[in-house]
Amino acid sequence: MKRIAIFGATGSIGCSTLDLIGRTPDAYSVEVLTGGRNIERLAAQAKHHGAALAVTAHEEALPELRERLAGSRVEAAAGRAALIEAAQRPADWTMSAIVGAAGLAPGLAALAQGNTLALANKESLVTAGPLLMERARQHGARILPVDSEHSAVFQALAGERIEAVERVIITASGGALRDWPQERLAHATPEEAGAHPNWDMGQRITIDSASMFNKALELIETHEFFGIAPEKIETLVHPESMIHAMVGFVDGALMAHVGPADMRHAIGYALHWPERRALPVERLDFAALGGFTFRAPDEDRWPALRLAREVMAAGGLSGAIFNAAKEAALDAFLARRIGFMQMAQIVERVLARMSGDVSLSGDLDLDKVEQADHLARIRAGEEIAALSGRMPERAGATYSLT
Ligand code: NAD
Ligand code: MG
Repeated sequence: MKRIAIFGATGSIGCSTLDLIGRTPDAYSVEVLTGGRNIERLAAQAKHHGAALAVTAHEEALPELRERLAGSRVEAAAGRAALIEAAQRPADWTMSAIVGAAGLAPGLAALAQGNTLALANKESLVTAGPLLMERARQHGARILPVDSEHSAVFQALAGERIEAVERVIITASGGALRDWPQERLAHATPEEAGAHPNWDMGQRITIDSASMFNKALELIETHEFFGIAPEKIETLVHPESMIHAMVGFVDGALMAHVGPADMRHAIGYALHWPERRALPVERLDFAALGGFTFRAPDEDRWPALRLAREVMAAGGLSGAIFNAAKEAALDAFLARRIGFMQMAQIVERVLARMSGDVSLSGDLDLDKVEQADHLARIRAGEEIAALSGRMPERAGATYSLT
């Protein structure tokens, strides 16, 4: 029996993971499930899957969690420390599917067990990629990518030498606003940006898809995870979301990974790796599909892509700053304090303001990453206030690392 822990069980990736596990319950023992404010769902999942422990990130929600779990054998816990403690409970396979930089600390703690971390939380690679990869090496743990593009690249690389890779192309649907005239984008609402044409995902990543901040994070994720040079990584707009990535080799061959837009493929691949097992995803009918289309990404329309290149060139703490500023800008957009195109402006300004910060130089360590994350949220708050003409809100809102 494979012992399973799922961080972010109540979210889109978490639910898809439980969907797969629930199909062959005898093969798994669910040790840990964690969630945020949706206590009803967390408790229902924990009871249904017979979890040993359920943890909510919010301490004030503990009484409700206890009440909903009353009479079951599920242990209840809450808060940041409880999340870390849960990541230290023995598990063979841990899914990291918390959204945002908040996923970093539990992921790092889980790696210390030396087992498998299925990584959906791309923000932890963007924020602290070298730390995460080093932690895995130190403890002999394995990280398996659970982003559709990175799972695709990983699969295309099976049996290949990384030196033979000439380029990696990660595709982007272009998100909900792909076909809007550019001048309308400034006025897009969270509802409009949050309606994805192809993928059914959490609200934050769906809006990040429309702004291409998601693809920007994924460019950095590709660089950090596979160690591929930034100039070898390309983005291609592919509105049908059927080809998830292509890997080009020195002999001119391209291996493309094609499949339906269903995260259960990437999750299932990581769950069963190194084997392939049957998965309940749609089988594609190419004759019915007719064709695929592609276009070059427009960096005026999606400035996040240009910013990702700057972050990869700068390295160090710029990924942590980039991600934290992006999370703060997204919060402000969701709160209707800034416009859709202002998210990239905020991130660009925060990166520029913090680029010369001497207190953040030197070797990368967790303290510095947390400090950079914290400061970037404060700077972003100031920039947001300047743009929206209001006072800065308390720094480090929901998703802060510190
Ligand atoms: P979601 O918003 O649907 O779920 C997020 C989960 O994290 C929930 O369980 C929530 O309760 C929990 N959470 C939120 N804030 C938290 C905090 N501060 N502390 C602890 N827990 C917290 O998100 P999602 O779409 O499932 O995405 C999860 C991760 O997977 C993200 O990093 C996302 O980029 C990545 N990802 C998602 C998809 C997708 O299809 N949804 C695809 C690729 C990668
Ligand atoms: Mg992706």
